[in-house]
Amino acid sequence: MDKNSIDNIPLVYYKNKSMTLKRYYHPKSINEALHILEKEKGKAQVIAGGTDLIIDLKNKKVNIDALVDITRIEGLSSIELKDDFIYIGALVTHSEIAKSTLIKKNAKVLALATLNIGSPQVRNLGTLPGNIVNARPAADGATALIALNALAEIHSTNGVRWEKIEDLYLEAGKSKVNPASEIITKIKFRFLSDNHGSSFQRLAKRKAMALPVLNCASVVEVDKKMDRFKNVKIVVGPVAPTPFRAKRAEDLLKDAKISKEIVAQAAEIASLDSQPRDSIRGGAIYRKDMVKVLVKRALIDSLKDVFLGREI
Ligand SMILES: Cc1cc2nc3c(=O)[nH]c(=O)nc-3n(C[C@H](O)[C@H](O)[C@H](O)COP(=O)(O)OP(=O)(O)OC[C@H]3O[C@@H](n4cnc5c(N)ncnc54)[C@H](O)[C@@H]3O)c2cc1C
Repeated sequence: MDKNSIDNIPLVYYKNKSMTLKRYYHPKSINEALHILEKEKGKAQVIAGGTDLIIDLKNKKVNIDALVDITRIEGLSSIELKDDFIYIGALVTHSEIAKSTLIKKNAKVLALATLNIGSPQVRNLGTLPGNIVNARPAADGATALIALNALAEIHSTNGVRWEKIEDLYLEAGKSKVNPASEIITKIKFRFLSDNHGSSFQRLAKRKAMALPVLNCASVVEVDKKMDRFKNVKIVVGPVAPTPFRAKRAEDLLKDAKISKEIVAQAAEIASLDSQPRDSIRGGAIYRKDMVKVLVKRALIDSLKDVFLGREI
């Protein structure tokens, strides 16, 4: 039997009458996957955990004939620390990230973000590249990665490139990465050394199975004397078509003396600059008000990391 024939499609996809898939591939290498995508000329798309893509296929938001399942490709499932950078393979699940001691110790913001995604079932399948390419402004994993200034390694038949995850967002639901011709193979970011702290705050209607009403990721670096901020990253979602960097608030904190007052002022500015809309998950006015609360909590929690140690 041809390994890539329709008979090889996992039963759950094949039997679903609302989907019109004709081919399901299981490449063993990135090169093989890229060549299949090239041969399919836009009619195939990469699938990893399938937690977003299967729903999109069922709802006919995506119109393709074939899936290129990358989960049998070796070498994409590790979390490693190398030369001050943490590397996360494309197939590492949210559950694995949330449990990783390396991530909890050196990038608490990401451990907390992944711990809060959906339900255990979703976290056991979902991956960071899927979260990024789906390009939702409320994506928890991607929001934390932007605060960490993370980069993605992207393979295509034209070669390999690294791009900042923040730059991969084009608009709500649209990524610069084309999953019909490109594959993210890993994510990297600088590990947070001792004078750094980070936090992830989230407001959601229920504890499980829902995108957040609001989320906020922060990374704070303080100076050697520990009395001034050095660099601060604040990312909030969903208050704009893409995850929102509160740049005016970040600029206010840069090199400023650490105090309750300056933190409150930064939170106020972030709230003023945010542009949430009314949606099923929350009203614009409520969200705008809550940005202030979440940013303040995130900054204080990040500072606690620096002064009291990183326990999560
Ligand atoms: C019930 C439920 C609750 C959820 N709750 C949350 C939540 O609270 N917070 C949150 O942020 N998300 C949530 N999600 C969304 C989802 O789980 C995440 O976005 C997940 O990270 C997607 O990863 P995946 O591996 O399943 O992606 P897939 O569904 O496999 O793919 C998603 C998209 O990314 C592309 N893609 C996947 N991997 C790659 C790659 N390596 N290179 C290039 N393109 C790729 C696919 O072609 C597709 O376009 C929820 C989903 C469900 C079903």
